[in-house]
Amino acid sequence: MKKIVKFGGSSLANAEQFRKAGEIIRSDAARRFVVPSAPGKRYDGDTKVTDLLYRCYETAEKGNDFDNQLKAIKERFYEIIRGLNLELSLEEDFREIRKNFENLAGREYAASRGEYLNGRIMAAYLGYTFIDAKDVVRFREDGSVDMDGTDSLMENALTGIESAVVPGFYGADDTGHVRTFSRGGSDITGSLVARAICADMYENWTDVSGFLVADPRIVDNPVPIETITYRELRELSYMGATVLHEDAIFPVRKRGIPINIRNTNCPDDPGTLIVESTCKKPRYVITGIAGKKGFCSINIEKSMMNSEIGFGRRVLQVFEDQQISFEHIPSGIDTMTVYVHQSEFEDKEQQVIAGIHRLVQPDFVEMESDLALIAVVGRGMKSTRGTAGRLFSALAHANVNVKMIDQGSSELNIIIGVENRDFEAAVKAVYDIFVLTQI
Ligand code: ASP
Repeated sequence: MKKIVKFGGSSLANAEQFRKAGEIIRSDAARRFVVPSAPGKRYDGDTKVTDLLYRCYETAEKGNDFDNQLKAIKERFYEIIRGLNLELSLEEDFREIRKNFENLAGREYAASRGEYLNGRIMAAYLGYTFIDAKDVVRFREDGSVDMDGTDSLMENALTGIESAVVPGFYGADDTGHVRTFSRGGSDITGSLVARAICADMYENWTDVSGFLVADPRIVDNPVPIETITYRELRELSYMGATVLHEDAIFPVRKRGIPINIRNTNCPDDPGTLIVESTCKKPRYVITGIAGKKGFCSINIEKSMMNSEIGFGRRVLQVFEDQQISFEHIPSGIDTMTVYVHQSEFEDKEQQVIAGIHRLVQPDFVEMESDLALIAVVGRGMKSTRGTAGRLFSALAHANVNVKMIDQGSSELNIIIGVENRDFEAAVKAVYDIFVLTQI
């Protein structure tokens, strides 16, 4: 049995958290490969080491003295080393980091040092082999990850190794330059290691006991999701549910490796299991609710639109020309609506309208802003009668006006569009009807 365990920044923010992680790792012999993040916030208002590194490097770039900033970062790591009673010196590493900052080795190199140094500490603390991620995670020139290249480098480096620490968040491109993922990217490293060694499980340890059915800032004490499929998770993450980096599912998904989100501070909680597919009946008809504010709709009307072949393609061409991606395109007989992100659209709205007039000669174009989209996701909705009925009557009872409805053929989700100001009430109403008043 081989498990990858990835610990997030808050799970490794100080010596006390490191000890909890150590106990978790030592309590299961299968936890042989560890992927640490950089130290996160120790308390509300604290700064993550990754942010300190970015700031320190900015100072270096401006040609200003960054010694004090680097010293503060060094102190964060020594605080952990002392707290764990480790005999470990990072002096040589910090000398090299200082030199590389002076030589402007790059923002990504700078940010990566948080994971690198925390990895060194973790390896010393556990007595595991340290594997530098720059030798095993391969990036392409354009910043995307080279999955096959990474697979073979990892396989070579990890075969025959009993237990290892591979720092998260970074790797290197073909020229040896250190590259990083986007923020929160250690989740992707965990997934890449799990994939390369064909792990039985990828455990992702964080500071919450898994995914919750709804956002706890909107719904009081939402219940946790026990099991979720990759597809459901993708829908929810896309619509704003955070916990796991959006791209972390791709490497393991292809190999059918489950991910278990666990809480370092409550290690007995089962957390959320993310799987390719499952026969397990979901507890509720819906698995989760997520949503985002800040969308615009562009409503295009033209008589006889239905018989004009190529109409939709030409409309979408206008958006493509302006490099605006669309979210949904509900349509009627003589109407077509395009939902887009307000922030992407606002600056280009007049060009889009002009483009639509030029390419499809509509009767009129009308726009509406400050809209929110809510995704109600659940494999349990498939072939379940009455789901939509319950959903919309709950929204009506909550006095929410529904502006758009979109249900994909997969029956995995129903997307509803409401006004921004109705967003919270709508999420609460959906949660109440499917979870609290479950029949
Ligand atoms: N340390 C990086 C960040 O703060 C990456 C990670 O934690 O996954 O985003």
